[in-house]
Amino acid sequence: MIPGIDFIVPAAYFLAAVMFIYGLKAMGSPVTAHRGILFAGIAMLIAVLVTFVHPMVHGNYGLMIAAIAIGSIAAWWTGKRVAMTDMPQMIALYNGMGGGAAAAIATVELLKVIGGHELDTTTTVMAVAGGIIGAIAFSGSLIAFAKLQGWMRKTWRFGGQQIVNMLFFAATIVMGVMIIINGPDPLLLTLFLVTALIAGILITVPIGGADMPVVISLYNALTGLAVGFEGYVLQNPAMMIAGIVVGAAGTMLTQLMAKAMNRPLSNVLFSGFGKADEDGPAGDVSGDMKSIDATDAAIQMAYADKVIIVPGYGMAVGQAQHKIWELTELLTQRGVKVVFAIHPVAGRMPGHMNVLLAEAGVPYDLIYDLEDINAQFPTTDVALVIGANDVVNPAARKDPSSPIFGMPILDVDKARNTIVIKRGQGTGFSGIENLLFFEDNTRMLYGDAQKMAQALISGVKSLD
Ligand code: NDP
Repeated sequence: MIPGIDFIVPAAYFLAAVMFIYGLKAMGSPVTAHRGILFAGIAMLIAVLVTFVHPMVHGNYGLMIAAIAIGSIAAWWTGKRVAMTDMPQMIALYNGMGGGAAAAIATVELLKVIGGHELDTTTTVMAVAGGIIGAIAFSGSLIAFAKLQGWMRKTWRFGGQQIVNMLFFAATIVMGVMIIINGPDPLLLTLFLVTALIAGILITVPIGGADMPVVISLYNALTGLAVGFEGYVLQNPAMMIAGIVVGAAGTMLTQLMAKAMNRPLSNVLFSGFGKADEDGPAGDVSGDMKSIDATDAAIQMAYADKVIIVPGYGMAVGQAQHKIWELTELLTQRGVKVVFAIHPVAGRMPGHMNVLLAEAGVPYDLIYDLEDINAQFPTTDVALVIGANDVVNPAARKDPSSPIFGMPILDVDKARNTIVIKRGQGTGFSGIENLLFFEDNTRMLYGDAQKMAQALISGVKSLD
């Protein structure tokens, strides 16, 4: 054994845990987020490397290196290639892997018991709990991935579905309790895991539409919890701390997102929101959509005192952030006050718009959150909505029958004039019609976000 290893291993784990917590905290602000990711990454590296000298690890180094190499290459390759708009499904996939790894640890430890190894009751309870949660998070996350990737119909429902789901979940729990009381046997262990995996699938398939990000965040929290439990089983403090931190952060994010969508968690999991995805646009609207051309829109903005830009998913698809920043600079030079308003679930993941605007060089002090900007719309000359839809739909305030009624939205309809850039009649993620587009003071600027941003730039320049 390496001299002093009994001190080195826990010290390294402690360092990794501190760096991990600091990293997570730093990720809370765009100014320090990059450093936070770096810290968390280094912490993870330390935790992985120290495993090679861990007194409990004997041999199997070839397998460990092969697993790390495969994981690292796959993560590096996908991380480099993934488009910002596909990030949620990538997160779902990584979550799933974490949950699957926790379930695998539980399986190995329980198999050891079948092989004659002794496990005390607390450890068995932890292994079983981590196994259930990890397996559900694994299969549920894979379904979430398939849905967001467009490989699966968005929702799948049948009569009595909630009862069937409850039965599978209850069966998993009963088998888990049997394992704890009587000890595992190969058949029981297999049935236990398969039932948990099926429960994860069944719970996720009926959930669709705009609720999917909340579900991914929930599975993230569950994965953290499962890893924390299995960390106890392996008596690995770094795993326990990392698991607990991820579990807590995931739970908070889930709550925040549910609040931003005005969806209680129970409602997200059991109500089947997002039905409009399959059934066509919902909601009655009256009036016409009135279009505007880029030259007139540019004139309106150039002679405004104040403009609020509201980016959404379409800006990400069109990669229009750089052009929008160029437009902002041009308007600012003309004396127009321009700021950005970001809804907490604009785009396809929390912080999506902040990342894109930061990438384009937009200073953070020009970017406002929903609660800080909403009061400013009535005194704003032009609200420019670029590829946003659900997050500016006044049905959330005005139409009690709307599925998004009660969801906090950016009140762009209260601005003196609203210009909406989008390509055509496409609905937003939730699939419902948007009342904003039919308002008297709204004008539609049809076209791709980037092309229209360029057309606005040309329009403003032509005024000089
Ligand atoms: P939406 O998805 O509601 O609307 C996007 C709009 O962009 C569409 O109406 C589309 O209309 C338009 N669009 C698409 N491509 C382009 C393009 N190239 N150029 C111009 N416009 C384009 O986006 P929001 O950001 O308003 O709302 C986000 C939605 O996604 C919410 O429902 C939210 O719940 C959900 N969600 C959020 C997540 C998050 O964490 N942020 C994660 C997953 C889902 P058209 O086709 O006519 O161009």
